Formats: sequence, C-alpha cells, structure tokens
Amino acid sequence: MMSKVYNGCFIYCALIFFMSRILCLTCQRPQKACICAFTTNINNDIHVVILQHPSEVSQTKGTVALLAKSLQSCQVIVGENLDGDALLTEVMAQYQAILLYPSEQAETISQNLLLELAERQKSSENEEVNTRPLCLVILDGTWKKAYRMFMLSKTLQQLPQVCLPESLANAGQYRIRKVAKKNALSSLEASCYALALLEAGSDFANITPEQAGKYQPLLNKFQEFNQFQLSFRPEQSNTSRKSDDS
Ligand SMILES: [Zn+2]
Repeated sequence: MMSKVYNGCFIYCALIFFMSRILCLTCQRPQKACICAFTTNINNDIHVVILQHPSEVSQTKGTVALLAKSLQSCQVIVGENLDGDALLTEVMAQYQAILLYPSEQAETISQNLLLELAERQKSSENEEVNTRPLCLVILDGTWKKAYRMFMLSKTLQQLPQVCLPESLANAGQYRIRKVAKKNALSSLEASCYALALLEAGSDFANITPEQAGKYQPLLNKFQEFNQFQLSFRPEQSNTSRKSDDS
C-alpha cells in the first residue's frame, strides 16, 4: 500500500519536473509560467529602453518580459555599468533620451516639463540633434541595484531625469516582489504611466492610475498576471513580505 503511494508520488513529481522543462515556444518560459496570455500589443510612440541589472535576468517574476513583449518599440539592455555599452551608445546617438529615475534632480513629468523638453530640443544648434525622437530609459532592478547602476554611469547621470507625479508613483499593484517603499512601482507600471503622460498631449490631466490611455489594457493584464503569480504561492501571505530588499 505504502509503496503504491510512493510510486504515485514519484510519477507525479517526475511529471511536474518534466512539464516544468517544456518551454513555451513564444515566450521561452516554462509552460507553467508562460506569460503569453497576459501580453497585449501596444503601438507606443516613444521608444522604450530598459536597462536591466544582470541579477534581474533570472527573475522569473520580473515584469520586463511582459512589458517588452507588449510594446512594439522596446529594447532591453543588460548590464550594471553601462557606460561604453555599444547598444546604449547607439541609443544615445539615435534618440533624445530621458531617464525615468527619481534622483534628487529629477523633475516631475508635467505639461510644462514636456514643453520645456521640446523647447530644449528645438534650441539645439545641431539640426541632427534636434530632430531626434524622444526615448524613455528605465532602470530595472531593486532600489539598491538601480541606484548603483545610476551612480556608476556618467551617461545616465547626464541625461535629463524625470519622475512620475505622486498620484501615479504611489499607485503600484505590485504584490509579488518585496516592495514596501513609496514610489515602488514595478518597471512595467512605471513605464506605462510615464509613456501615458509623455504621449498624452492635451489629455495629460486625464491620465490617472485607472485611466492610463492606451497603456491601461497592459496595466489590467498586469493585474491578472500578478494574481496568476500569486496563485503559485498560496502559503505566503502579503504580510510576510520583507521590506529591506527593495
Ligand atoms: Zn508563452
């Protein structure tokens, strides 16, 4: 009787192990963690460059894959100190980059700031520079790692730095990773809100945590994605999250 139970357990475990090894052909993740059902297709006007800390690459809970698969114009560059990185250098030559990062000198995205950025670009004497399209650069990592990436890179420090208005910065739904600080949005949420504001034009004032223009479908999918992720760990409640890693 007991050996039958053991056999059953063994076959079950082997099956789970085998299933976990089969990768989805589209997102290249184990089928159990396939994100394809949560992706959307958004034609973003502003190109997005995600600078991902190497330790985030293996983060299966990371949201960057979902973001990158949902935006039509998005690229991911992995590294800690990205000064001199060939891909980033290419981005700098091709775009007028702004960095979404709440540094001390970061300016809150506002309609005035958008006008200012447009003016700054126009006033450049170099015609080649002032026709470059905007691109949004974001850092993907824990707070400590994003800080480190920022401090290590002169290139990043020299970019105009912007942050989200409070009403959006504190709207995070992220419940998977350890987040306990204010302004602790996931990379996906922060990018969606920043893009919605930067592309809003006269609709700027209408962008809210629940109405982020064409990015709202992705934010909704992200909420479903979070619930899907949580379903894998019923034994852990939100209250057990630590606050020291973000
Ligand atoms: Zn998939």
